[in-house]
Amino acid sequence: MQKEFVFGGLPMRVLFGHGTLERLPEEAERLGMRRPMVLSTPEQRADAEALIARLDTLGAGGFFRATMHTPVDVTEAALAAVAEWKSDGLICLGGGSTTGLSKAIALRTDLPQIAVPTTYAGSEMTPILGETSNGEKRTQRSDKVLPETTIYDVDLTLGLPAALSATSGLNAVAHAVEALYAPDGNPVISLMAEAAIGAMVAALPAVLAAPGDRHARAQALYGAWLCGVCLGTVGMGLHHKLCHTLGGSFDLPHAPTHAVVLPYAVAYNASAAPDAMAVLRRQLGSSDPAVALHELGRRLGAPASLGTLGLRESDLDRAAQLATERSYPNPRPLVRQAIRSLLDDALHGRTPR
Ligand code: NAD
Repeated sequence: MQKEFVFGGLPMRVLFGHGTLERLPEEAERLGMRRPMVLSTPEQRADAEALIARLDTLGAGGFFRATMHTPVDVTEAALAAVAEWKSDGLICLGGGSTTGLSKAIALRTDLPQIAVPTTYAGSEMTPILGETSNGEKRTQRSDKVLPETTIYDVDLTLGLPAALSATSGLNAVAHAVEALYAPDGNPVISLMAEAAIGAMVAALPAVLAAPGDRHARAQALYGAWLCGVCLGTVGMGLHHKLCHTLGGSFDLPHAPTHAVVLPYAVAYNASAAPDAMAVLRRQLGSSDPAVALHELGRRLGAPASLGTLGLRESDLDRAAQLATERSYPNPRPLVRQAIRSLLDDALHGRTPR
């Protein structure tokens, strides 16, 4: 019998396809932008400048200093640029770091945003913002930070490096996996999560085999979109808590950490989330979803252990304590010693159990 549920959709407009970036000027006008500010990381500056050139009928400005973890001092510098340019909108071209900067500016100015994602992180589909100041990362939810429009242009992902495609893709899969057992889950999100996992699991090996494969890239970006909707709509559990702790307190890199931890989080929750495991067995074609995800990571060449990402044996007690000191919803109760042994297995890259 169907369980009780509450469904709430997020207001957003999504354009998906090949070459959809061509529609950016009309989408900017649709939101009343006359002087948008285009945001990127230093690494994607040339692409952002090309995008500004494309917006020649609008007086677009540029700020190219987006960086990991959305440091507040960078946001303040961007706010000064936005004020000086008298910008009336934000266009972010890039991964989760650039989308994060756009959201941080929107939180403080309420400016409309157009996201143009170039990784599979999914931040553009969420009302969630993580910001860092004084070495501490804080996360909040606000409808103000959800981009009004997202333009998914598959062509922009053709050059996403193989290593980042793998880790960013597994980061996306983690959103869908945890949506399957979220206490505030609902049948629509479960349908999206299952479709998302199926798309990503089929697409990622093909993307790694041929990064320029337009069909595989389209399937991966489609899956990433659905994964992002899962993240934005329902609450996440142990996996995201562990990754947040490892990123925030031990400075481990975002997407690779997700890629390593996911199989272990699935193994931990397997006995307490039978419906979610049934979906994973179906989509992964394996009787043991945790082991199948571990093997997928190896096949994609993702980092094999938290040790390779910089975590040390001496960090385990503190990491387990931080990940369990406050309670949060998770299918299996959080037992500190069991979480420590999960982290110990992940530190060494052992087969999840
Ligand atoms: P990222 O945005 O940090 O990008 C990593 C690097 O890859 C950057 O140098 C970027 O310029 C480059 N890059 C991006 N796309 C490229 C492309 N197509 N070709 C070549 N280079 C490209 O990495 P990410 O994994 O997308 O985002 C991670 C950040 O996003 C973290 O800070 C994380 O906390 C945040 N995040 C937030 C949410 C949310 O809902 N708030 C969701 C997911 C991730």
